[in-house]
Amino acid sequence: MKKKFVYFFSKTLTEGSKEMKNLLGGKGSGLAEMASIGLPVPAGFTITTEVCDLYYKNGRHYPAGLEKEVDENMRRLEKEVGKKFGDADDPLLVSVRSGAPLSMPGMMETILNLGLNDRSVAGLAAKTGNRRFALDAYRRFIMMYGSTAKGIDREEFNHAFEILKIQRTRRRLDLPVQVKVNDTDVNEAELEELVSEFKAIFKRNIGKDFPQDPREQLWGSVDAVFGSWMAEKAVTYRRVEKLKGVTGTAVNVQQMVFGNMGSKSGTGVCFTRDPNSGENVFYGDYLVNAQGEDVVAGIRTPIKLSEFEKADPASYRQLVDVRRILEKNFKDMQDMEFTVEEGRLYMLQCRTGKRSPAASFRIAVDMVAEKLIRREEAILRIKDKDIEGIFYPVIDPAQKEEMRKNFLVSGIDAVPGAASGRVVFNAKEAEAEAARGEKVILVRKETSPEDVGGMHAAQGILTATGGKTSHAAVVARGWGKCCIVGCENLNINYDKEEMSVGDVVVRKGDEITLNGSTGQVFLGSLRLIKPEPPASFKNLMGWVDQTRAIKVRTNADTPYDAAKAVELGAEGIGLCRTEHMFFDTEERRLAIQEMIVADTLEGRISALNKLLPYQKEDFKGIFKAMDGLPVTIRLIDPPLHEFVPHTEEKQRKLAEDIGVPYEKIRYRVEQLHEANPMLGHRGCRLTITYPEILDMQVRAIIEAACECASAGIKVLPEIMIPLTIDKKELQILEMRTRQVADAIIQQRNMKLKYMVGTMIEVPRAALLADQIAEVAEFFSFGTNDLTQMTMGISRDDAGKFLPDYVDEKKAGVFAEDPFQSLDQAGVGMLVRMGIEKGRRTKPDLKVGICGEHGGEAKSVEFCCRVGMNYVSCSPFRVPIARLAAAQAVIKDRLQAAPAKKIKKAKKAAPRKRQKPAKKARILKKKPARIQRKKAPARKSKAAKKAARIPRKTIRARKTKRK
Ligand code: ADP
Ligand code: MG
Ligand code: MG
Repeated sequence: MKKKFVYFFSKTLTEGSKEMKNLLGGKGSGLAEMASIGLPVPAGFTITTEVCDLYYKNGRHYPAGLEKEVDENMRRLEKEVGKKFGDADDPLLVSVRSGAPLSMPGMMETILNLGLNDRSVAGLAAKTGNRRFALDAYRRFIMMYGSTAKGIDREEFNHAFEILKIQRTRRRLDLPVQVKVNDTDVNEAELEELVSEFKAIFKRNIGKDFPQDPREQLWGSVDAVFGSWMAEKAVTYRRVEKLKGVTGTAVNVQQMVFGNMGSKSGTGVCFTRDPNSGENVFYGDYLVNAQGEDVVAGIRTPIKLSEFEKADPASYRQLVDVRRILEKNFKDMQDMEFTVEEGRLYMLQCRTGKRSPAASFRIAVDMVAEKLIRREEAILRIKDKDIEGIFYPVIDPAQKEEMRKNFLVSGIDAVPGAASGRVVFNAKEAEAEAARGEKVILVRKETSPEDVGGMHAAQGILTATGGKTSHAAVVARGWGKCCIVGCENLNINYDKEEMSVGDVVVRKGDEITLNGSTGQVFLGSLRLIKPEPPASFKNLMGWVDQTRAIKVRTNADTPYDAAKAVELGAEGIGLCRTEHMFFDTEERRLAIQEMIVADTLEGRISALNKLLPYQKEDFKGIFKAMDGLPVTIRLIDPPLHEFVPHTEEKQRKLAEDIGVPYEKIRYRVEQLHEANPMLGHRGCRLTITYPEILDMQVRAIIEAACECASAGIKVLPEIMIPLTIDKKELQILEMRTRQVADAIIQQRNMKLKYMVGTMIEVPRAALLADQIAEVAEFFSFGTNDLTQMTMGISRDDAGKFLPDYVDEKKAGVFAEDPFQSLDQAGVGMLVRMGIEKGRRTKPDLKVGICGEHGGEAKSVEFCCRVGMNYVSCSPFRVPIARLAAAQAVIKDRLQAAPAKKIKKAKKAAPRKRQKPAKKARILKKKPARIQRKKAPARKSKAAKKAARIPRKTIRARKTKRK
């Protein structure tokens, strides 16, 4: 069957729906959905994302038949609206808007007022009786078409406009120099002049007159939208956001409505709930007498919705209705764009709103309480970056005095959190500085899509103009990056690379601190701390814990980290590395070094005895912090050369400190040198050679455990032997461990339970897991080493080439860095096999993971599915692992559910009839004007034609309704 390239939407006929986001893009599917539920949407049509894909696949040529379909739909649109495209007296004007399946704020340019030319601008003026408005629309169109479709520098137009405002408008109004001339101050005659000037700019740059043929304008704009898909800024955005597998943008052609018709018109952007706090209040900006981009670009500072309500209560009430209907329909917070034309509301866009991490939790939890969604859905909506964001830094409130003294200026609090860093005024520089490891704050008058890379690299963003829905705010919010906008008292001078407030000047490189939660800017770097998570976080994480089937432990080496992790929900320690303890203080370091250079057993034992009390104290601290939760302690793991000094100076110092000849130390260090330390003398190979190290460590663990137990603290030590490759090897070490441990326990006449297990981190161990499980009481998959060894890629050297393997544009061998997200196919197969073989020997074998992967969402889901008992990760990733574990359970449930769902749906089929009634009820409450007119009653030609379109394509909704 022939592919359909164009989908129509209007109050009488809509072919798309919200389910068709991939094909129609976010904007197109949102418009279709709104039109289909009876909201006031200007009619139009969407050219699919597939066309974009084909366009690039065919070397920038459109698929055959597209032009015809566009023509047909244009004809339909003319019928629907009752105006003709290109008509000189009453022209149909349209916007041409891009829209990819995923929201990419500002990535693709929109062209408004298309269809105007020298003749029809007069027609529009006559028809509306508002010549100023017609000219305003025309000058915007020439500029947008010239810059977006034809690549003329926008600044050239802006500059001409500024000159006009200064030389003509200011003089006419006799305004003092320091007062800004607004766009709205410019009168008809001046606009007339501006239009001529703009056309001259067009001709100067392009070498041709501004196109008068609307069809040429239309296709020029469509080309531009598809062209922008591959523009550098769009490609950068997809790279930064790691958006893969999106094949193109759609193009929406839509009848224009006008917010620039005077004081009873305007345009706005709003959210159905507060996107920062998540509170259930209506939130947004409105700009009187303006066209869409004015709000988003932050050209003028808009008014709040509350002021809009006062200024135009009737329009506001329509908007409130829409808010309610949209939330009911989408069951999520929506971000909407609207325009009021002479007191009539029109919806121009809706999409799921970006929100701060705190708002994500608040909205999800509130919507469960409001019975809009179920708990499962609430859990699925939280992203791992929401959890990270909950722990955003804030300015340590103890610095009241500093804050008072260093206060610089206040702006609009666009994205909460705090950040400090050195000021830079351009995005490229921000990127370069950040790459050098500098913390920077990007300061701009306003941001644009070109700045996205630098915005991402900066700690925080500060702009002088714009509201909470400006480009800077929207993009920063998506990343949870601290952002302040609309800081009107801030004077930025790009040329001098400085900014000032009154006579305080801040230069490039000076440090400032932003408080994105209040909008305040401070001089210098204030101390930042981590805040208490909000109530909704605890609430939702409670549901998470009830849902998940797997435990979450932490990797922690100190009592401090252990306590932190418990606070974040850790249920034990899955990996306590003992070697860092050797470096903690000078005495410890000397003791371990003395042990390493000693050439007799007695010498080593004497040095180890010095370490014993330190290790014991450390373990006691950790047991105390974990208070009854299991603690897995790994015996010494790194190769010994990591512990000794490598420069002559340091070696001489060591010689002096421990009273050993320098030569001997140098010789020993040389001896320890390994060609390939990763595969050298490390892990349990060390304790096979030097069992006295094992003796000391086990003694420290068990004595600490006994002492804690005597003091009434419950302890569950799990002694873990690293890097095992063979059952016999493990057996030797296990027996020795038990000998030492049991002797102490017996001697102290105590009852103490402990376990001895192993890490599975060498492929051979996974292959022979059935044998190893005869000895080991538990397995812990060390997937860092297991990944290195399975892939034969050293993690420490992979930085040089692995990025190419992941980069789609280069080799694109792996979808993800296997050291970040577990390679489920390869390494994962060894893990599965290891578990299966291990449990064949010991059905209740306890299994966990302790590599970096234990805190990465997708890997955690994998661990759940292969039947691990727990995952272990660094303390701050613990909540992320908890969430991923719950999501795995829910996703599996949903996977299993479809069969059930279908059955249910069949049974419920007769009830479906009632759906239209329900919709009608909603509609009844709305002003009559926005009610759907009954199409069949006055079936236009267009509608009849539509009826001929194969049923399926018309809309799945139709079948739902009948
Ligand atoms: P973006 O992808 O940047 O959000 P849009 O396509 O939404 O760009 O266009 C930006 C603004 O242009 C909209 O918010 C809206 O105010 C205005 N706009 C777009 N189409 C129309 C239209 N048909 N009538 C009136 N205004 C429009
Ligand atoms: Mg835009
Ligand atoms: Mg928009």
